[in-house]
Amino acid sequence: MADNCIFCKIACGEIPSNKVYEDDEVLAFHDIHPVAPVHFMLIPKLHLASLMETEDSHAGLLGKMLLLAPRLAKQQGLEKGFRTVINTGKGGGQEVFHLHIHVMGGGHIPPMVRRD
Ligand code: AMP
Ligand code: ZN
Repeated sequence: MADNCIFCKIACGEIPSNKVYEDDEVLAFHDIHPVAPVHFMLIPKLHLASLMETEDSHAGLLGKMLLLAPRLAKQQGLEKGFRTVINTGKGGGQEVFHLHIHVMGGGHIPPMVRRD
């Protein structure tokens, strides 16, 4: 657990969250400021600041998170699909430096890139 990491505190239950899924390695919870009708995040319980800090030894954990995303999305009613976003580092707009996968859907999801 990293000092002063809000997602580590959520992972260990010190800060409450609206949980979607939990096991020994992974937690999923609803985003406090949703940008879509369904918006939750998948995090590893292990503190990894971002994708930049991942190593080969994390392949299993990362694979597990990606496999969980569609399963949990379907459970949340996103049978038609969803968007996943992983912001990485300051250059990627990351604000909470504990790796997380955003899963968003429901309603209208606009194209990622506007083509004028
Ligand atoms: P990012 O910009 O990818 O680092 O996203 C961080 C996300 O964490 C934002 O969408 C926030 O709304 C969300 N967030 C921050 N604090 C909490 C919290 N206590 N519970 C749930 N979501 C949070
Ligand atoms: Zn952390």
